[in-house]
Amino acid sequence: MQLRRLIAFTLLLVFVSACKDVKPNEDTNEQPVVVKKEKVEFGFSEKHYEFKRDTIRKGDTFGIILDRNHIGYPKIFQIAEKAKDTFDIATKLQVGKPYTLLFPKENLSDSIKKPSAFIYQQSLEDYVVIDFKDSIQTYKGKKPIKYVEKTATGVIKNNISETLEEKGISYKLAYILADDIYAWTIDFRRLQPGDRFKVIYTDKYINDSIYTGVHDVKAAYFEHNGDSLYAFEFVTDSIKGIRDYFNEEAKNMRRAFLKSPVKFGRVSSRYNLKRRIAYYGYKIRPHKGTDFAAPIGTPIMATANGTVIESTRRGGNGKYVKIRHNDTYTTQYLHMSKQAVKKGQFVKQGDVIGYVGMTGNTGGPHVCYRFWKNGRQVDPFKQKLPQAEPIGDSLKVKYLEHVKPIKKRLDDIFFLQAEPKEKVNTITEDQSIQ
Ligand SMILES: [Zn+2]
Repeated sequence: MQLRRLIAFTLLLVFVSACKDVKPNEDTNEQPVVVKKEKVEFGFSEKHYEFKRDTIRKGDTFGIILDRNHIGYPKIFQIAEKAKDTFDIATKLQVGKPYTLLFPKENLSDSIKKPSAFIYQQSLEDYVVIDFKDSIQTYKGKKPIKYVEKTATGVIKNNISETLEEKGISYKLAYILADDIYAWTIDFRRLQPGDRFKVIYTDKYINDSIYTGVHDVKAAYFEHNGDSLYAFEFVTDSIKGIRDYFNEEAKNMRRAFLKSPVKFGRVSSRYNLKRRIAYYGYKIRPHKGTDFAAPIGTPIMATANGTVIESTRRGGNGKYVKIRHNDTYTTQYLHMSKQAVKKGQFVKQGDVIGYVGMTGNTGGPHVCYRFWKNGRQVDPFKQKLPQAEPIGDSLKVKYLEHVKPIKKRLDDIFFLQAEPKEKVNTITEDQSIQ
């Protein structure tokens, strides 16, 4: 009985609020009764305010905008002065950013409409309200953010961006997979047709409606070159907010060294002690570096943390940088158009240390990457490179517990019928270049 009364009461409420939204002078006979949700933005209701939206234009100042809307100068100064502690309107308005003026509906019949609040949107999420309806109040606000967890699968035909695009998934996911998660284990320029992946990720929405792209990848699985690579996101230091990706055995997905010193280059010549070159009459001219061809000006990154021990120009090497990483490893980057670091400087993995060029002996723009282990030049692709910081023993148990249900979820995602694994045998032009 109680329940029935509750239902009846709820229905009545819906009906009452529905009636409230139907204006009396409208002919409502043929229209269905619609329950309208009161629209509230920045904490103000459209019921009480008219929203006038615009963007800051060149030459606009807070004073000019308000003056244009019939607020007089003594008042403008007063508002700006009062608002200053929270937000300095005089200096912080940026051309192109949206703003909203609120006009109280109670005054709309007045011959001159005056706004009672100015709202400036610094970003999609953040805004500042300067409310001068009665007393002057300034405060900052944030639009409500919603994260929606999703899963995706894909099979590579040509490259990952294309596969994601076909599925209507933001390209940001490709960056996260290629740069954050698998940069050390998979060379995304050498993906094979038939390589496939599954991901659990979150999409971010502002105000329920504005899609801002992939926010985060919680877990991923990639089949490449016969390997199955799992990656799980895990916070290793909640105070410092440090998170990393680890595999199913709690090993860090990052390595102490990047696979390549350039982002979108192509290996044009590998480390080869028996290389024969026509120019030298097919005599053996060992190549102890790895050449990455890339356009002039492409940033060259330090493949690991270390100290710059040389940044100079010499003979066939041209302009180069040499970095000492620790007692065991040293790397060198040749033929730069320009160096970006000085001797003695400490650099972090991924820092730009120079730009691709053609200085020294070189037939085309590339960076010759040399890799020393214990004073001997070796092939970086053949090294078992050290892992970046492993997960601590005390955290490892917690990590494995945390990952168990997520791994099961990943395993339970099936590849679609339209994604057969048998497609593998076609070789695209990209791979035949190597
Ligand atoms: Zn070389």
